[in-house]
Amino acid sequence: MPQKLKLHKSSHYIELGSYQYWPVLVPRGIRLYTFEQIPLFLKENPYITDGYRAHLTSKLCLKSIFVLSNETVNIWTHLLGFLLFFLLGVNDMSTVLPASGANREDYVIYCIGLFCFQVCMLCSVGYHLFSCHRSEKTCHRWLALDYAGISVGILGCYIPGVFYAFYCNIFWRQVYLVIVLALILAIFSAQIHPHYHSKEWQHLRTVIFCSVAGYGVIPAVHWVWLNGGFSSAVVQLFLPRVIVMYLIAGAAFLFYISKIPERCFPGQLNYLGASHQVWHVLVVFMFYWWHQTAVYIMNFRHNQPCPPLYTNSG
Ligand SMILES: [Zn+2]
Repeated sequence: MPQKLKLHKSSHYIELGSYQYWPVLVPRGIRLYTFEQIPLFLKENPYITDGYRAHLTSKLCLKSIFVLSNETVNIWTHLLGFLLFFLLGVNDMSTVLPASGANREDYVIYCIGLFCFQVCMLCSVGYHLFSCHRSEKTCHRWLALDYAGISVGILGCYIPGVFYAFYCNIFWRQVYLVIVLALILAIFSAQIHPHYHSKEWQHLRTVIFCSVAGYGVIPAVHWVWLNGGFSSAVVQLFLPRVIVMYLIAGAAFLFYISKIPERCFPGQLNYLGASHQVWHVLVVFMFYWWHQTAVYIMNFRHNQPCPPLYTNSG
Protein backbone atom coordinates (compact mmCIF):
# COMPACT_ATOMS: atom_id res chain seq x y z
CA MET A 1 0.00 0.00 0.00
CA PRO A 2 2.68 2.57 0.92
CA GLN A 3 4.47 1.59 -2.30
CA LYS A 4 1.35 2.39 -4.29
CA LEU A 5 0.92 5.73 -2.54
CA LYS A 6 4.54 6.64 -3.27
CA LEU A 7 4.13 5.79 -6.93
CA HIS A 8 1.00 7.87 -7.14
CA LYS A 9 2.73 10.84 -5.50
CA SER A 10 5.77 10.77 -7.68
CA SER A 11 3.71 10.60 -10.85
CA HIS A 12 1.83 13.62 -9.56
CA TYR A 13 5.12 15.48 -9.16
CA ILE A 14 6.35 14.49 -12.58
CA GLU A 15 3.17 15.81 -14.06
CA LEU A 16 3.64 19.12 -12.27
CA GLY A 17 7.35 19.25 -12.83
CA SER A 18 7.57 19.68 -16.56
CA TYR A 19 8.48 23.34 -16.22
CA GLN A 20 11.55 25.08 -14.94
CA TYR A 21 12.78 24.45 -11.39
CA TRP A 22 15.06 26.73 -9.48
CA PRO A 23 18.24 24.72 -9.35
CA VAL A 24 18.93 24.88 -5.61
CA LEU A 25 17.11 23.44 -2.62
CA VAL A 26 13.69 23.25 -4.23
CA PRO A 27 11.47 20.83 -2.30
CA ARG A 28 9.85 18.26 -4.52
CA GLY A 29 6.44 19.32 -5.71
CA ILE A 30 7.14 23.04 -5.84
CA ARG A 31 7.45 24.61 -9.23
CA LEU A 32 6.94 28.09 -10.53
CA TYR A 33 4.27 29.24 -12.93
CA THR A 34 3.74 32.16 -15.28
CA PHE A 35 0.84 34.59 -14.87
CA GLU A 36 -1.14 32.81 -17.61
CA GLN A 37 -0.79 29.45 -15.85
CA ILE A 38 -2.02 30.36 -12.37
CA PRO A 39 -5.65 29.98 -11.20
CA LEU A 40 -7.91 32.99 -11.67
CA PHE A 41 -8.10 33.79 -7.95
CA LEU A 42 -4.32 34.34 -7.87
CA LYS A 43 -4.33 36.78 -10.79
CA GLU A 44 -3.86 40.07 -8.97
CA ASN A 45 -1.02 41.76 -10.81
CA PRO A 46 -0.51 41.16 -14.56
CA TYR A 47 2.78 43.10 -14.49
CA ILE A 48 4.33 40.30 -12.42
CA THR A 49 4.59 37.82 -15.24
CA ASP A 50 6.44 34.85 -13.72
CA GLY A 51 7.71 33.20 -10.54
CA TYR A 52 4.31 32.22 -9.12
CA ARG A 53 3.85 29.33 -6.73
CA ALA A 54 0.45 27.60 -6.98
CA HIS A 55 -1.55 24.45 -6.18
CA LEU A 56 0.48 23.69 -3.03
CA THR A 57 -0.48 21.84 0.14
CA SER A 58 -0.03 23.58 3.50
CA LYS A 59 3.22 21.71 4.08
CA LEU A 60 4.65 22.70 0.71
CA CYS A 61 3.50 26.30 1.22
CA LEU A 62 5.62 26.32 4.40
CA LYS A 63 8.56 24.74 2.61
CA SER A 64 8.30 27.31 -0.18
CA ILE A 65 9.70 29.92 2.23
CA PHE A 66 13.14 28.79 1.01
CA VAL A 67 12.22 28.80 -2.68
CA LEU A 68 13.02 31.89 -4.72
CA SER A 69 9.62 32.97 -6.02
CA ASN A 70 7.92 36.30 -6.64
CA GLU A 71 6.72 36.20 -2.99
CA THR A 72 10.13 35.57 -1.37
CA VAL A 73 10.89 39.26 -0.70
CA ASN A 74 7.31 39.84 0.52
CA ILE A 75 7.60 36.97 3.00
CA TRP A 76 11.06 37.82 4.31
CA THR A 77 10.58 41.61 4.61
CA HIS A 78 7.77 41.10 7.10
CA LEU A 79 9.39 38.11 8.79
CA LEU A 80 12.40 40.32 9.47
CA GLY A 81 9.97 43.12 10.40
CA PHE A 82 8.43 40.82 13.00
CA LEU A 83 11.89 40.07 14.37
CA LEU A 84 12.69 43.80 14.49
CA PHE A 85 9.59 44.64 16.54
CA PHE A 86 10.11 41.64 18.79
CA LEU A 87 13.68 42.73 19.52
CA LEU A 88 12.58 46.35 19.94
CA GLY A 89 10.07 45.08 22.53
CA VAL A 90 12.80 43.21 24.42
CA ASN A 91 15.05 46.28 24.27
CA ASP A 92 12.23 48.61 25.41
CA MET A 93 11.26 46.46 28.37
CA SER A 94 14.82 45.82 29.53
CA THR A 95 16.55 49.15 28.76
CA VAL A 96 14.57 52.05 27.26
CA LEU A 97 11.54 52.10 29.58
CA PRO A 98 13.41 51.54 32.90
CA ALA A 99 15.91 54.28 31.90
CA SER A 100 13.14 56.82 31.29
CA GLY A 101 11.37 56.10 34.58
CA ALA A 102 8.36 54.52 32.89
CA ASN A 103 5.28 53.68 34.94
CA ARG A 104 2.95 50.72 34.53
CA GLU A 105 0.79 52.58 31.98
CA ASP A 106 3.83 53.21 29.75
CA TYR A 107 4.70 49.51 29.80
CA VAL A 108 1.14 48.55 28.86
CA ILE A 109 1.00 51.07 25.99
CA TYR A 110 4.37 49.94 24.62
CA CYS A 111 3.43 46.29 24.87
CA ILE A 112 0.12 46.88 23.04
CA GLY A 113 1.76 48.98 20.30
CA LEU A 114 4.59 46.55 19.58
CA PHE A 115 2.30 43.52 19.90
CA CYS A 116 -0.01 45.05 17.25
CA PHE A 117 2.96 45.61 14.91
CA GLN A 118 4.12 42.01 15.39
CA VAL A 119 0.62 40.65 14.73
CA CYS A 120 0.45 42.75 11.54
CA MET A 121 3.82 41.40 10.36
CA LEU A 122 2.94 37.76 11.10
CA CYS A 123 -0.48 37.96 9.40
CA SER A 124 1.25 39.34 6.32
CA VAL A 125 3.89 36.59 6.38
CA GLY A 126 1.09 34.02 6.69
CA TYR A 127 -0.79 35.45 3.73
CA HIS A 128 2.23 35.63 1.43
CA LEU A 129 3.30 32.14 2.46
CA PHE A 130 -0.11 30.48 2.03
CA SER A 131 -1.50 32.53 -0.88
CA CYS A 132 -0.29 29.73 -3.16
CA HIS A 133 -2.47 27.13 -1.39
CA ARG A 134 -4.35 24.75 -3.67
CA SER A 135 -7.64 25.64 -1.97
CA GLU A 136 -9.14 28.97 -2.98
CA LYS A 137 -11.02 29.14 0.33
CA THR A 138 -7.78 28.83 2.30
CA CYS A 139 -6.19 31.61 0.22
CA HIS A 140 -9.15 33.88 0.93
CA ARG A 141 -8.95 33.14 4.65
CA TRP A 142 -5.28 34.13 4.71
CA LEU A 143 -6.10 37.26 2.70
CA ALA A 144 -8.76 38.15 5.28
CA LEU A 145 -6.17 37.67 8.02
CA ASP A 146 -3.73 39.92 6.13
CA TYR A 147 -6.33 42.70 6.01
CA ALA A 148 -7.18 42.13 9.68
CA GLY A 149 -3.45 42.38 10.43
CA ILE A 150 -3.25 45.79 8.71
CA SER A 151 -6.15 46.99 10.90
CA VAL A 152 -4.29 45.75 13.98
CA GLY A 153 -1.13 47.55 12.76
CA ILE A 154 -3.11 50.81 12.38
CA LEU A 155 -4.47 50.27 15.90
CA GLY A 156 -0.88 49.85 17.10
CA CYS A 157 -0.10 53.31 15.70
CA TYR A 158 -3.17 55.00 17.16
CA ILE A 159 -2.94 53.71 20.72
CA PRO A 160 0.49 55.14 21.67
CA GLY A 161 -0.14 58.20 19.44
CA VAL A 162 -3.42 59.16 21.15
CA PHE A 163 -2.16 58.12 24.59
CA TYR A 164 0.86 60.45 24.55
CA ALA A 165 -0.67 63.26 22.47
CA PHE A 166 -3.50 63.59 25.00
CA TYR A 167 -1.39 62.70 28.02
CA CYS A 168 -2.62 65.79 29.83
CA ASN A 169 -6.25 65.58 28.65
CA ILE A 170 -7.68 62.41 30.09
CA PHE A 171 -11.17 63.12 28.75
CA TRP A 172 -10.10 63.54 25.11
CA ARG A 173 -7.67 60.67 25.43
CA GLN A 174 -10.54 58.37 26.35
CA VAL A 175 -12.83 59.80 23.65
CA TYR A 176 -10.27 59.24 20.88
CA LEU A 177 -9.21 55.81 22.12
CA VAL A 178 -12.86 54.67 22.21
CA ILE A 179 -13.47 56.04 18.68
CA VAL A 180 -10.38 54.27 17.31
CA LEU A 181 -11.36 50.98 18.95
CA ALA A 182 -14.88 51.34 17.52
CA LEU A 183 -13.49 52.02 14.03
CA ILE A 184 -11.24 48.96 14.11
CA LEU A 185 -14.12 46.86 15.42
CA ALA A 186 -16.26 48.16 12.53
CA ILE A 187 -13.59 47.02 10.04
CA PHE A 188 -13.54 43.55 11.59
CA SER A 189 -17.34 43.37 11.31
CA ALA A 190 -17.14 44.42 7.65
CA GLN A 191 -14.55 41.71 7.02
CA ILE A 192 -17.02 39.04 8.08
CA HIS A 193 -19.22 40.03 5.13
CA PRO A 194 -18.86 37.36 2.41
CA HIS A 195 -18.34 39.99 -0.33
CA TYR A 196 -15.72 41.99 1.57
CA HIS A 197 -12.75 40.31 -0.11
CA SER A 198 -14.26 40.15 -3.57
CA LYS A 199 -12.76 42.17 -6.41
CA GLU A 200 -16.04 44.12 -6.69
CA TRP A 201 -15.50 45.47 -3.17
CA GLN A 202 -11.90 46.47 -3.81
CA HIS A 203 -12.76 50.18 -3.95
CA LEU A 204 -14.86 49.99 -0.79
CA ARG A 205 -11.98 48.25 1.03
CA THR A 206 -9.63 51.03 -0.05
CA VAL A 207 -12.10 53.70 1.10
CA ILE A 208 -12.54 52.02 4.50
CA PHE A 209 -8.77 51.74 5.08
CA CYS A 210 -8.11 55.31 3.94
CA SER A 211 -10.88 56.58 6.23
CA VAL A 212 -9.48 54.77 9.26
CA ALA A 213 -5.93 55.95 8.51
CA GLY A 214 -7.07 59.47 7.55
CA TYR A 215 -9.25 59.78 10.64
CA GLY A 216 -6.02 60.47 12.58
CA VAL A 217 -5.97 63.99 11.13
CA ILE A 218 -8.91 64.92 13.45
CA PRO A 219 -7.16 64.15 16.78
CA ALA A 220 -3.93 65.61 15.33
CA VAL A 221 -5.59 68.97 14.51
CA HIS A 222 -7.34 68.95 17.89
CA TRP A 223 -4.01 68.26 19.59
CA VAL A 224 -2.39 71.25 17.81
CA TRP A 225 -5.28 73.48 18.88
CA LEU A 226 -5.26 72.28 22.51
CA ASN A 227 -1.53 72.91 22.74
CA GLY A 228 -1.78 76.53 21.59
CA GLY A 229 -1.34 76.29 17.82
CA PHE A 230 1.64 75.98 15.51
CA SER A 231 3.83 78.40 17.47
CA SER A 232 3.89 76.26 20.64
CA ALA A 233 7.11 74.39 21.41
CA VAL A 234 5.53 70.94 21.82
CA VAL A 235 3.69 71.25 18.48
CA GLN A 236 6.85 72.37 16.68
CA LEU A 237 8.68 69.43 18.21
CA PHE A 238 6.21 66.69 17.30
CA LEU A 239 4.09 67.91 14.38
CA PRO A 240 6.92 67.35 11.83
CA ARG A 241 7.17 63.74 13.04
CA VAL A 242 3.40 63.26 12.55
CA ILE A 243 3.64 64.81 9.06
CA VAL A 244 6.57 62.51 8.13
CA MET A 245 4.47 59.56 9.37
CA TYR A 246 1.63 60.54 7.02
CA LEU A 247 4.07 61.10 4.15
CA ILE A 248 5.49 57.58 4.58
CA ALA A 249 1.97 56.13 4.83
CA GLY A 250 0.87 58.09 1.73
CA ALA A 251 3.91 56.95 -0.28
CA ALA A 252 3.39 53.32 0.81
CA PHE A 253 -0.26 53.48 -0.22
CA LEU A 254 0.55 55.05 -3.62
CA PHE A 255 2.96 52.22 -4.42
CA TYR A 256 0.34 49.69 -3.24
CA ILE A 257 -2.50 50.92 -5.46
CA SER A 258 -0.55 52.16 -8.50
CA LYS A 259 1.52 48.98 -9.07
CA ILE A 260 4.43 51.24 -9.93
CA PRO A 261 7.26 50.51 -10.87
CA GLU A 262 6.42 47.06 -12.34
CA ARG A 263 3.65 48.68 -14.42
CA CYS A 264 6.43 50.49 -16.34
CA PHE A 265 8.64 47.39 -16.60
CA PRO A 266 6.30 44.39 -16.96
CA GLY A 267 8.08 41.12 -16.30
CA GLN A 268 11.34 42.72 -15.22
CA LEU A 269 10.59 43.16 -11.52
CA ASN A 270 9.04 39.74 -10.86
CA TYR A 271 11.47 38.89 -8.05
CA LEU A 272 12.86 42.19 -6.84
CA GLY A 273 11.72 45.80 -6.90
CA ALA A 274 7.93 45.35 -7.31
CA SER A 275 5.46 47.77 -5.71
CA HIS A 276 4.23 45.33 -3.07
CA GLN A 277 7.78 44.85 -1.83
CA VAL A 278 8.23 48.63 -1.57
CA TRP A 279 4.92 48.79 0.32
CA HIS A 280 6.17 46.13 2.76
CA VAL A 281 9.46 47.92 3.43
CA LEU A 282 7.70 51.28 3.88
CA VAL A 283 5.19 49.75 6.33
CA VAL A 284 8.05 48.37 8.47
CA PHE A 285 9.81 51.75 8.31
CA MET A 286 6.58 53.59 9.18
CA PHE A 287 5.94 51.43 12.25
CA TYR A 288 9.57 51.85 13.33
CA TRP A 289 9.35 55.63 12.85
CA TRP A 290 6.17 55.78 14.90
CA HIS A 291 7.65 53.64 17.66
CA GLN A 292 10.66 55.98 17.89
CA THR A 293 8.28 58.96 18.00
CA ALA A 294 6.43 57.33 20.91
CA VAL A 295 9.73 56.88 22.79
CA TYR A 296 10.57 60.50 22.09
CA ILE A 297 7.21 61.87 23.28
CA MET A 298 7.17 59.61 26.36
CA ASN A 299 10.56 60.98 27.44
CA PHE A 300 9.28 64.49 26.77
CA ARG A 301 6.21 63.91 28.96
CA HIS A 302 8.27 62.45 31.79
CA ASN A 303 10.62 65.43 31.74
CA GLN A 304 7.92 68.06 31.35
CA PRO A 305 4.89 67.38 33.53
CA CYS A 306 1.48 68.51 32.27
CA PRO A 307 0.74 72.23 32.71
CA PRO A 308 -1.89 72.78 35.47
CA LEU A 309 -4.26 74.29 32.87
CA TYR A 310 -4.71 70.95 31.15
CA THR A 311 -4.39 68.45 33.96
CA ASN A 312 -8.04 68.21 34.90
CA SER A 313 -9.65 70.00 32.00
CA GLY A 314 -11.73 67.93 29.65
ZN1 LIG B 1 1.68 42.08 1.62
